[in-house]
Amino acid sequence: SKFEYAPAPESRAVVDIASSYGLFIGGEFVEPAEGGSFKTLNPATEESLADVSQAGAADVDRAVRAARRAYQRVWGPMSGTERGKYIFRIARIMQERAREFAVLETLDNGKPIKESRDVDIPIAAAHFFYHAGWADKLEYAGFTPAGSAAPKPLGVVGQIIPWNFPLLMLAWKIAPALATGNTVVLKPAETTPLTALLFAQVCQQADLPPGVVNIVTGAGETGRALVEHPDVDKIAFTGSTGVGKGIARSIAGTRKRLSLELGGKAANIVFDDAAMDQAVEGIVNGIFFNQGQVCCAGSRLLVQESVADDVVRRLKRRLQALRVGDPLDKNTDVGAINSAAQLARITELAEVGVAEGATRWSPECTLPKNGFWFAPTVFTGVSQSHRIAQEEIFGPVLSVLTFRTPQEAVAKANNTPYGLSAGIWTEKGSRILWMADQLRAGVVWANTFNRFDPTSPFGGYKESGYGREGGRHGLEAYLRLDSAPSTARSTRT
Ligand code: NAD
Repeated sequence: SKFEYAPAPESRAVVDIASSYGLFIGGEFVEPAEGGSFKTLNPATEESLADVSQAGAADVDRAVRAARRAYQRVWGPMSGTERGKYIFRIARIMQERAREFAVLETLDNGKPIKESRDVDIPIAAAHFFYHAGWADKLEYAGFTPAGSAAPKPLGVVGQIIPWNFPLLMLAWKIAPALATGNTVVLKPAETTPLTALLFAQVCQQADLPPGVVNIVTGAGETGRALVEHPDVDKIAFTGSTGVGKGIARSIAGTRKRLSLELGGKAANIVFDDAAMDQAVEGIVNGIFFNQGQVCCAGSRLLVQESVADDVVRRLKRRLQALRVGDPLDKNTDVGAINSAAQLARITELAEVGVAEGATRWSPECTLPKNGFWFAPTVFTGVSQSHRIAQEEIFGPVLSVLTFRTPQEAVAKANNTPYGLSAGIWTEKGSRILWMADQLRAGVVWANTFNRFDPTSPFGGYKESGYGREGGRHGLEAYLRLDSAPSTARSTRT
């Protein structure tokens, strides 16, 4: 079927969706050994977009063997300069096909087109550009002592990603793995496989050697087969804390390395001296961007007591202007929830919030009849022990708590099992620095929120996982940092 997105004639984009997709193994699309498939839906309409292959253990094995062969014969021995050229070419093609990617992402995920167009796809391409530059400079990055050999790749990496930023999470995983000389087998989430399969076509278009990137589609069983495969050197996982813990248990005691990017329950902390209009925009962006289905979403608003009523009043006025609906409409602010299962989780936790005594509010909005929708929701009167203040809801639901002093703000912000991100809104520079030091969060934003950049490391503390993605630190997750002397230099001295 053809879907057309035409906000203006000059920016018309058409995306071709095949009726069915094979697995991408060894540089080509192949049928799964056991022949199973599943449907991926448009969550805004519940219509089926395509049939996607279900990879079983035999398919995962085939993909790992293709990746091993490519690692040993082509990608491992290749110079960093050559690898960088391939990665750069991938980035250029992604940029050229950006509109196609954006429409496909919105159709498969339900996020507003203005987000996939302005955030997901450009930042995904930026990750490939950024990492193309690293490929031939690894020995200068200070990982190993001067005069020693360049750091070495790990080999074959299994990567498992969630559905909230399908292409962007793929880019965070694949770009650093390729730049450091590894080959990959990636499993996208079962509700959002289509942009990963379009990315597979980009790899073909870029003439990437067969087997360097392999994409196996399927649900948790496929992920488990990848985790358990004996010839995988590392697993990189982004997803829920529960599944992440299970993977850590199953990998313990094997040769595999592991990095985990898990859930969050970020505090967006607003002081009485904050630039309020900016802060309110930051709160709205913090929790309603991507329908709140963001691991670093500012799902707890911590507001100083003296300005709490004013901030909540402004926030409600702002939420009344949010446009909820058709994700392909370029004016839409809040799109569809990704799946029926996710909608059920959000609905259940919101009901728990009411049962625990918090006050629930939503702006008036008419939700489309078909598809998976949840109105932007604010809970006031929330206390720290409430489940909606502790558990990740992963939806457009904000819990409002108050504090009096910076010390109390820190104590409350740190009082969850998570430690991924936090936001601070104040005009006082010294307070920003003190707070950033005290907050147990891998990323702290000041007077902004949800900013992502390939040059900055992203990752968490506590039950939000370990390892960093992005920047120089992100490369470490894919390297062996031995300090053996380089043969070239040692013969010279
Ligand atoms: P999920 O854990 O259910 O699924 C994530 C991926 O793991 C999917 O591809 C899924 O098929 C696969 N999977 C499921 N069970 C598996 C198993 N037993 N073995 C191997 N793989 C398995 O998470 P989700 O619902 O897709 O995503 C939402 C979660 O992801 C949220 O908790 C969110 O906070 C987290 N997340 C974290 C980050 C981050 O960078 N920290 C980024 C995005 C999302």
